[in-house]
Amino acid sequence: MANTARWVDWEAEKVAAHFRVNPSTGLDDEDVRIRAKQAGPNQIVEGQKKSMVGIFVDQFKDFMVLILMVATLISGILGEYTDAIAIIAIVILNAILGFAQEIKAERSLSALKKLSAPTAKVFRSGKWERCDAASLVPGDVIYLESGMRIPADVRLIQTENCYVEESALTGESVPVNKTDEVIIQSHVALGDQKNMGFMGTSVIQGTAVAIVVQTGMATEMGKIAHLIETTEQMETPLQRRLAQLGKVLIGVSLILTALVVVTGILHGHDAYKMFLAGVSLAVAAIPEGLPAIVTVALAMGVQRMIRRRAIVRKLPSVETLGCATVVCSDKTGTLTQNKMTVTHIWSDGHRYEVTGSGFEPKGSFLCDQQAIQVQNHFSLARLLEVAGNCNNASLHAGGRVDGDPTEGALLVAAAKAGLKQKYQRMKEIPFDSTRKRMSVVVENNEGKRYVYCKGAPDILLSRCTHVSYKGKITPLTTNLKEQIMAENEQMAENALRNLGFAYRELESYEKMDRDTALERKLIFVGLAGMIDPPRDEVREAIQTCHQAGIKTVMITGDHQTTALAIAKQLGMLQSKGKTITGRDLDDMTDEELTSHISQIDVFARVTPEHKLRIVKAFQHAGHVVAMTGDGVNDAPAIKAADIGVAMGIAGTDVSKEAASLILVDDNFSTIVSAIEEGRSIYDNIRKFISYLLASNVGEILIMFFAMLAGLPLPLVPIQILWVNLVTDGLPAMALGVDPAEEKTMNRLPRNSKESIFARGIGWKIVTRGILIGVCSLAAFWITYSEAPHDLVRAQTVAFATLVFAQLIYVFDCRSVGTIFHRNPFSNVPLVLAVISSAALLIGVMYYEPLQPLFHTVALGVREWILVGVTSFLPVLVAGLIDQLRPKNRIQLTKQNKEAPIS
Ligand code: ATP
Repeated sequence: MANTARWVDWEAEKVAAHFRVNPSTGLDDEDVRIRAKQAGPNQIVEGQKKSMVGIFVDQFKDFMVLILMVATLISGILGEYTDAIAIIAIVILNAILGFAQEIKAERSLSALKKLSAPTAKVFRSGKWERCDAASLVPGDVIYLESGMRIPADVRLIQTENCYVEESALTGESVPVNKTDEVIIQSHVALGDQKNMGFMGTSVIQGTAVAIVVQTGMATEMGKIAHLIETTEQMETPLQRRLAQLGKVLIGVSLILTALVVVTGILHGHDAYKMFLAGVSLAVAAIPEGLPAIVTVALAMGVQRMIRRRAIVRKLPSVETLGCATVVCSDKTGTLTQNKMTVTHIWSDGHRYEVTGSGFEPKGSFLCDQQAIQVQNHFSLARLLEVAGNCNNASLHAGGRVDGDPTEGALLVAAAKAGLKQKYQRMKEIPFDSTRKRMSVVVENNEGKRYVYCKGAPDILLSRCTHVSYKGKITPLTTNLKEQIMAENEQMAENALRNLGFAYRELESYEKMDRDTALERKLIFVGLAGMIDPPRDEVREAIQTCHQAGIKTVMITGDHQTTALAIAKQLGMLQSKGKTITGRDLDDMTDEELTSHISQIDVFARVTPEHKLRIVKAFQHAGHVVAMTGDGVNDAPAIKAADIGVAMGIAGTDVSKEAASLILVDDNFSTIVSAIEEGRSIYDNIRKFISYLLASNVGEILIMFFAMLAGLPLPLVPIQILWVNLVTDGLPAMALGVDPAEEKTMNRLPRNSKESIFARGIGWKIVTRGILIGVCSLAAFWITYSEAPHDLVRAQTVAFATLVFAQLIYVFDCRSVGTIFHRNPFSNVPLVLAVISSAALLIGVMYYEPLQPLFHTVALGVREWILVGVTSFLPVLVAGLIDQLRPKNRIQLTKQNKEAPIS
């Protein structure tokens, strides 16, 4: 406490002087560079990470691997050097592979973390700029506004209605009203340091300017960093299920291996050899690498998503994305371009047209198609004056706008009229989506104070008593109100987003401390309608969603008619689709909402608080919901949604932190790309699970059947381990990056409760696994019965058949159907992986120094033909069985239809 408490009773000037900073210019680049060197990055150093060596050593901690190593060492001591060395070498190779996978997973995860790193708005060399929060230094002047996470410990030097939620630090969830005044008190607890802001807490209302006093580990948050759970829960439900499945598989593999060993011994095999073969089989058959490969596949998928402009913050959501059945999206900026242009104004009973488009302030005002001088139209001029002053955006040369595009459009309209005058601002009551309005108190050049207010027309009218109409200020009668609302409706039907404007002069005795009192008895001056064209690519994205069985819903604070007009343009309204407003929502019980929600396409005039109800109602109706949001108040709905989506550009820090997915470009179609990617990642995970498990089944069965039939060992331990290495390794990884099947978005969403083995995968594992085992054994048996004295030859044939059968089967895994459903060359990494695995096998068969190690011999043409036929047979026969099995296809469609859709 001592550290920050010392700034509490200092005047702002003293704090600035202490940090050698002039708040009206900020630090310059040189200052920042020097201070950054002294203070280090403004980051909380995370707890101990596992070292590289630790990760490598972990690879050997598996129980079966340890037994295998001990057994091999013993055989080494007993004189079987070559076998021992070869086995240990393979185990080490396996560990290196596991290590590489884990490191890759770790790297991709930390790259993800960096991507969603917070930023700050800082004043340097006289200019406001956005910077990485990590680059802040003591003495930096920063700007804080609603929704921002405070990036360092700061002394507030100017606050405007500023409330901060500090529960992360103090446990107190009631927001603290911050001040810029000095606090004189002998001992000030953290929660009472009201002129301070602390790293990691969030501004939930108002604005502030502050000087950074502590950064990184010196902040209050830094001091207790070790107490805070910073790591996100990164394990996905699938990973958890796989971990459970892994345990079952270990049990099954151990039992089967034990059976192999016992049967072998009963048939007179050497007990020690059987034991070693058994342990090798167990090591090979237990899919211990599965979780790591799943993580790599997820992480690599996440990298692909980044390329498609979606940042995944929480890994589990990758899986959930594939199950999404509803996407609820904000309108402004996500479905539309957020490139607002004021095109129509209604004021004083007249309709004006404003020409020009975009933020370039070029255009003129027309009334009855005649150009007019705005200065000659009192009410219109007043409207633009309110618009220009009740505004926090700034307009730069070249038509660039900083700030809210709605406000930018208003500035541009004012500039087109030649009105650029800004009055001295005395107070601001900020805009928020629940209030749907914003007000300022300004003082003009003659010292008169005015309240200027803009906001949703219906809301604003309810706070007006008068209207500027036909050149006079007259009472706002019901008749006039209806006329204005009719005008508003008509503008909205043309997809215009409308704002109303009002003002009043403050009496000299009036105080400015009561917000609601200020926004009363206003004089209405008119409406401004702006176009916000839909984004070009969204129409197609919505169509894709509908094809993919995903319902799209618009949730907007905007007027119902505007929302409907845009929804129509985007093809969002389904045939029986309904539109309802926030008010209708208020009149409905949760049960009523749940029973109707599947028919609603547009929610208009809603507040962020409604969003939470909407998410829950969809969930109760059995949907998996993706929900977008950008403001502080959206955070609860984003958190409650199955996939919370925040906006990369317009989103507040608070919404981003609550979200599991961030759209870099704020674009609706990016959500659709992410869903598509989510579906294909899940498909790929299923593909390599079916590959690995069927391969393992094949390995166990060839040994098991051989022992049952009283044959010699068809494979020696080193061969078993080798098969495991070449199959677990590259081909499985390459399946993880398999391109999506074209029909990914032509099928209905996956049921989130569906088993990983559903939709034909379990069947595939069993049929292919059995056939691989049987065919490899057949190849062994044929060769062995022809030349029983040449066991090594028969073992080499079995070894080659098993490897090739798996390398062929890997192409079968790429589609739910048979091997013929996809072009085998469309996954180049897989083709390369298969070629290199085959080349390695041929290497150990033909390179003489390796032959004794791997118990191989060079095969002749006849044997190769046998290997070729028996390794192709499993997928051919299985494909044939699949074709003759209509029941399977019926089940597939039925399963899909059961997925919940609207
Ligand atoms: P969406 O919810 O789809 O993003 P929206 O921008 O219309 O759409 P909100 O931001 O919640 O939703 O705004 C609600 C209403 O408040 C708007 O329809 C508009 O009438 C009014 N409004 C929007 N921005 C401002 C602002 N900067 N100042 C005053 N009023 C505003």
